[in-house]
Amino acid sequence: NNEEAAAKVAAANADSGAPTIFDKIIAKEIPSTIVYEDDKVLAFRDINPQAPVHVVIIPKNRDGLTELGKAESRHVEILGQLLYAAKKVAEKEGILHGFRVVINNGPEGCQSVYHLHLHLLGGRQMKWPPG
Ligand code: C5P
Repeated sequence: NNEEAAAKVAAANADSGAPTIFDKIIAKEIPSTIVYEDDKVLAFRDINPQAPVHVVIIPKNRDGLTELGKAESRHVEILGQLLYAAKKVAEKEGILHGFRVVINNGPEGCQSVYHLHLHLLGGRQMKWPPG
């Protein structure tokens, strides 16, 4: 099924510290629909949206943050900036009344791109548990 396939892809891509597709998005070498940008953070529409609003929010400088599980004390500031950017994007997208922020971590967490990122999802009724 889809979930097993996704888990296999995630496992095959497990954290190697290699550059990712997000470096090319940051460098604007591949196109993306940017919805928010500042000196530290970039937010763009997910190419495979799971909700009417689905935005990926990333640090421009990965600085070892391939996944949340690799966070160190030096990352505290950028982690806060990413969450604050999620709020700003939610506001801009008109979904402050209801949205979800997700971080997939590691193969079992279905992470596929090893450059820390938040998923901002909204624009529909979300369900719980997420599965
Ligand atoms: O949490 P995970 O690592 O699975 O999320 C990666 C996300 O990046 C996926 O939702 C995928 O659709 C998105 N993506 C994208 N543009 C790319 C490559 C991946 O929006 N070029």
